[in-house]
Amino acid sequence: MKQYTQLAEIQADLRAGSLRCEDLVRQYLAAIAARPEINAFLEVFEAEVIAQAQAQDAAIARGEWQLLTGLVLGIKDNIAYKGHVFSASSKILDGFESLFSATVVERLLAEGAMIIGRLNCDEFAMGSSNENSAFGRVLNPINTDYVPGGSSGGSAAAVAAGFCHASLGTDTGGSIRQPAAYCGLVGLKPSYGRISRHGIIAFGSSFDQVGPFAKSIEDVALLTQVMAGPDAYDTTCSTLEVGQYVPIATDKKYKFAVIKELLSGEGLDPELQAAFQQKVAQLKAAGHEIVEVSFPYLPYAIPTYYILATAEASSNLSRYSGVHYGYRSGNATDLESTYKKSRTEGFGEEVKRRIMMGTFVLSEGYYDAYYGRGQKVRRLLRDKSLEILQQTDAILTPTTTGTAFKFGEKSDDPIQMYLEDIFTVLANLTGLPAISVPFATHSNGMPLGIQLMGRPFAEAEIFALAKALQA
Ligand code: GLN
Repeated sequence: MKQYTQLAEIQADLRAGSLRCEDLVRQYLAAIAARPEINAFLEVFEAEVIAQAQAQDAAIARGEWQLLTGLVLGIKDNIAYKGHVFSASSKILDGFESLFSATVVERLLAEGAMIIGRLNCDEFAMGSSNENSAFGRVLNPINTDYVPGGSSGGSAAAVAAGFCHASLGTDTGGSIRQPAAYCGLVGLKPSYGRISRHGIIAFGSSFDQVGPFAKSIEDVALLTQVMAGPDAYDTTCSTLEVGQYVPIATDKKYKFAVIKELLSGEGLDPELQAAFQQKVAQLKAAGHEIVEVSFPYLPYAIPTYYILATAEASSNLSRYSGVHYGYRSGNATDLESTYKKSRTEGFGEEVKRRIMMGTFVLSEGYYDAYYGRGQKVRRLLRDKSLEILQQTDAILTPTTTGTAFKFGEKSDDPIQMYLEDIFTVLANLTGLPAISVPFATHSNGMPLGIQLMGRPFAEAEIFALAKALQA
């Protein structure tokens, strides 16, 4: 089977008549069936995606082309698709079927995308290794001893394994960029408010954003272009004009900010540190400017994120009561025990830990000390980031502190797992767009990702900067 890295190549073959959408879809279905142990898909919409492909082939025969003609997509299991089950990889949504499609799904379908299935993830998108799914872990297709990253682990594994061309994930603290880095893909967390959250299962509503995974910056840009823009169903969605993300500009010289405190390499894998330094040198040699900046507040990003995101999660997840929808305990005898038993039996351990932490930080007597103070630190982090981005075009960091780790390595220690997000949470705390691009391979054979964080709503520029990084 021919491996395509860009949609443009697929479309060229479709135009030339050497490929049909149906063949392409059948190839993906065969690839999925050949490696069931990867466990990327919770459900494959086999008959449906074949029908979509046949409809696309008929449209092509009539000369009808759309932006995403030929693109086969997987969607994370926290994104609503009308008439399909979605569960956020949790038992608590047992049997729940979506009554409508997320705005992003509607927009992608309207441009010709074909949806092949729903993808495994950490329960309610809480995690960094996909070990928190109620439906089993996802293996990294590059080396199955390693985690694919999380929480959008299925989304990353599926694209890396050639099960679909691109996928959607969500990113509350790094859940697109970290698995993209661990699976050798490009992944974007757009500016907060760039893409509608309508139809996305909420985790931390002031952090959550949907974004794409693909093998090329071009396809990530194209998918973002199709999904972005105002939505009457989401009032946090910006009305700012989207502009043109494709074709990507490639002729400019940029100013990259590099954080001084990071250059010492403390806590970084030495090979990653060396590869990062080498990339910085390459950028300089290519005529870009590197500006060393100090970011003394960086150590506060993780604690702030885990206070604010758990607070929002505890509120958002209060709706899973066993009464309205999803799982209801068979052992309940009255309303109180319906709540308690359904939630106790329906939620996994990590989700319960988050709900308890969030409830604690919001509780009377502690609210000001934790939640209130967290909000202030969040503002400081945003102000400092914007100050840096006034003098530079983007902040350059590694996406993670090392490559993917092995199963079980961090799952017994929540703090170690939370530290995974050290470079990614800043973009969610500040609402800024950030992209992860593969940039080196470790001697353990696993890919490494580099991250760019840019100005609010400067997605077009982020893609151009990412191209400069890859050049
Ligand atoms: N790993 C982070 C967490 O567990 C980020 C999750 C996400 O972005 N959805 O909260």
